Amino acid sequence: QAPLHISNEPIKPFNGDSSDISKLQEALTKYQFKSLEVPLIINGQKIYKDRVLKNHINPSNHSQILCKYAQATKEDVNEAILAATASKAKWAKMSLDERAAVFLKAADLITTKYRYDLLAATMLGQGKNVYQAEIDCIGELADFFRFNVKYAFEMYKQQPVASSPGVWNRTEYRPLEGFVYAVSPFNFTAIAGNLFGAPALLGNTVLWKPSATAILSNYLLMEIMIEAGLPNGVVNFIPGNPVEVTETILSNKNFAALHFTGSTKVFKDLCKEIYSKDHFREYPRIVGETGGKNFHLVHPSASLEHTVLSTLRGAFEYQGQKCSATSRLYLPESISSEFIQLLKENVKKIKTENCSINIKGFMGPVIHEQSFDKLAKAIGEAKEDSELEIVSGGYFNKSNGFFVEPTIIKTTNPHHKFLQQEFFGPILTYYVYPDSEFEAICNIIEQNSTYGLTGSIFSQDREAVIFASDKLKYSAGNFYINDKSTGAVVGQQSFGGSRQSGTCDKAGSASLLSRFVSVRSIKENF
Ligand code: GLU
Repeated sequence: QAPLHISNEPIKPFNGDSSDISKLQEALTKYQFKSLEVPLIINGQKIYKDRVLKNHINPSNHSQILCKYAQATKEDVNEAILAATASKAKWAKMSLDERAAVFLKAADLITTKYRYDLLAATMLGQGKNVYQAEIDCIGELADFFRFNVKYAFEMYKQQPVASSPGVWNRTEYRPLEGFVYAVSPFNFTAIAGNLFGAPALLGNTVLWKPSATAILSNYLLMEIMIEAGLPNGVVNFIPGNPVEVTETILSNKNFAALHFTGSTKVFKDLCKEIYSKDHFREYPRIVGETGGKNFHLVHPSASLEHTVLSTLRGAFEYQGQKCSATSRLYLPESISSEFIQLLKENVKKIKTENCSINIKGFMGPVIHEQSFDKLAKAIGEAKEDSELEIVSGGYFNKSNGFFVEPTIIKTTNPHHKFLQQEFFGPILTYYVYPDSEFEAICNIIEQNSTYGLTGSIFSQDREAVIFASDKLKYSAGNFYINDKSTGAVVGQQSFGGSRQSGTCDKAGSASLLSRFVSVRSIKENF
């Protein structure tokens, strides 16, 4: 039966209790000076020797190497496939209670014994402040593990079949026949946990390729899983060259599913690769969450201060590097000047800084040089473009860390590419529409967007909310009314969108879990 009392892990505010702060500072110091060597973990064995090593650096201070990590070779990936295959029989046969115990224990270890270590690793390696780290590698991660257990029990319980005298019908939720390939992004430690965790909970075994820029926290998470009792070979940790790892995995006929979060381009390339092959034992399941160009649509009736602050948070928290970050804003003419003035006043107070030194600083660095250069280029282009005007920010500097100021850009063209392209950083582009054209702007948003991840309507007028909610049906898989476009909470709003944003299978839901089982119907005559 489902364990009772599954609720969201409370977030620590880090504003009063000095023992919390000193424990965190101790962990931050430890991980900065530890020079950790991160091995591959295949069949529970740690492999480091004779492998090509790479550095995971601190994006706030790029001269600092946080750890050196081993790259999987082709042979390592093949070993991992063997391990996943060998461990499958026993793991899949275990009852859900037993598998759930591993994840529930891991959630407890995350929120207690390893809380400060995980926070420190996520803050240092992924450039988060303490609040962004708490909502990710503590709250959301533990929530994914616990709520997935609840959803799995609910799914297993479903027996939607009638039986009659002499006949007994039943439904069996088998794991997929082969192994699952989990490819995780840098921006959420929690998402990595869900990418390997959801399939594994259901009896699948997994090859997990973590992001090169989240190695520190992801390795720690792998160690926590082992301490929680995850049997050898169930999840195999294989950082490595993405192209090589993927090629080896897809050349194996037992590849059964891709569970992916990352860029639209990489996901499309992976899909093409998968569809181009016909040697797989079963049709691979493909579950992906990719890019976004998430909007805030403001109606003239919106409450000004709340909408401004929500926009500031949606666009600039974690440097705009959530898939759900607000990157386009539509303002009605009647309140646009006041809105932008208030937004600018607040944005001017933000400093970009090393948030492992000032743990509550609002904004840290972007993740790496490539991202920094892309953003710097976009800001440069904006300066040259007659349809664009930088109204705030626009400064960038990579001498110590990859810092990009929160940047607000105005466009006079509702179809401008700055309202369509994803930058994955702190750039917000806005367009001012005549108040009388609210309906037309809804149409433009719905028709123009290739993405469909998140979006918000801010309005105190119910008619406008109803209209927008209906019109913007496919522009946002997560649609918010009077709230920012970021911050979905597991167990409250399942997360994911359609169009070029993903397969809309919804992380944190029973429907996601259903993608990793293969249902068998059994009829027995007496
Ligand atoms: N679930 C997160 C949110 O709602 C975003 C996840 C992502 O960036 O992929 O903000």
